[in-house]
Amino acid sequence: MPTDRVTIFDTTLRDGEQAPGFSLRTNEKVQLAKELDALGVDLIEAGFPIASIDDAEGVKQVAANVRRPVIAALARCRPEDIDRAGEALKGAERSRIHTFIATSDLHLTKKLNITRDQCLTAAVAAVKQARTYTDNVQFSAEDATRTDMEFLCTIVDAVIKAGATTINLPDTVGYSTPDEIHDFFVSVIGRVHNSDKAVFSAHCHDDLGLAVANTHAALTAGVRQVECTINGIGERAGNASLEEIVMGMKVRSDRLPFTTGIKTEHIFPTSQLLCSLTGQHVQANKAIVGRNAFAHEAGIHQDGMLKDRRTYEIMNPADVGVPATALVLGKHSGRHAVKHRCEAIGHTLTRLELDQVYRRIIALADQQKSITDDDIVAVINEVRLQPAR
Ligand code: MN
Repeated sequence: MPTDRVTIFDTTLRDGEQAPGFSLRTNEKVQLAKELDALGVDLIEAGFPIASIDDAEGVKQVAANVRRPVIAALARCRPEDIDRAGEALKGAERSRIHTFIATSDLHLTKKLNITRDQCLTAAVAAVKQARTYTDNVQFSAEDATRTDMEFLCTIVDAVIKAGATTINLPDTVGYSTPDEIHDFFVSVIGRVHNSDKAVFSAHCHDDLGLAVANTHAALTAGVRQVECTINGIGERAGNASLEEIVMGMKVRSDRLPFTTGIKTEHIFPTSQLLCSLTGQHVQANKAIVGRNAFAHEAGIHQDGMLKDRRTYEIMNPADVGVPATALVLGKHSGRHAVKHRCEAIGHTLTRLELDQVYRRIIALADQQKSITDDDIVAVINEVRLQPAR
């Protein structure tokens, strides 16, 4: 088996940015790329230069301003695409050309209207041309998981011979299941006899909510590069989310014994920056980075958390850069959490006071969605000002 170090290929600025509502200006791409650098990603796919002047400029500016990670640019298996990608990457410290072509019969016949032989010829030519710009060339077989296995192995073998150093086999439409994608990678890596000359990569989409599970399953099959995005943004239902892939490996290293270069405490700040640049927020219950990912309102949970956080948290929020666990006071809260919050804002209550404050806060929480510290102080004052009985 290959080493346990997994390469993190971030495509937030390419697959993520091409989703509706996620466009970024060039200066914003550079700002996010700097944050991805601090986060510790190995590669940043910065754009698709042939797609637009702006995309080409984005790749150039990211390459000029971010020097540690490898900067990748996307290109179809067409001469003009490869040239545009090569030119956009000229100023990079380290660059990769990522060239792709669809390989499934469905895409070949309905979308590209070419034969398997034409597909194979274009792929080999593109990889050879890309190698004239950089020795770091990635080939992707779009819709790989729905491609005929024998043809897929033929094309993978041919592009490795032509000089591809990374082979990405995407689950382009998010159709695979975890055990299926595991077996898929085991088959390809086992059947292609020069497979040891390249790193295999997974690129999973979340149409069935399985992108991260599929990515983890691919790792256990020998894949050593994963393509992912911050907050899981990307085409349709999005890509596998970087933060979920990485924290899965960290929290469950017993089952997923792989390492990355990610500095996990940068995860939340990077997620927040992406939200603020795009104006698109993640749902409250999003794993790792959602507003509620480390928030507890139910009384039983709050009581457990105050006794030992491990009762209801499998990660320390500080490990992903989340400032602190939030014990949200609401109608499901218990006395223990109310007492804790009152003390945290400087009010030690007698038992009698606590009973009354607790009852009033629960009543208030029935009327409003959340309880602020100001609400609590007001309630404490009310209770303390009422005549003694
Ligand atoms: Mn994709």
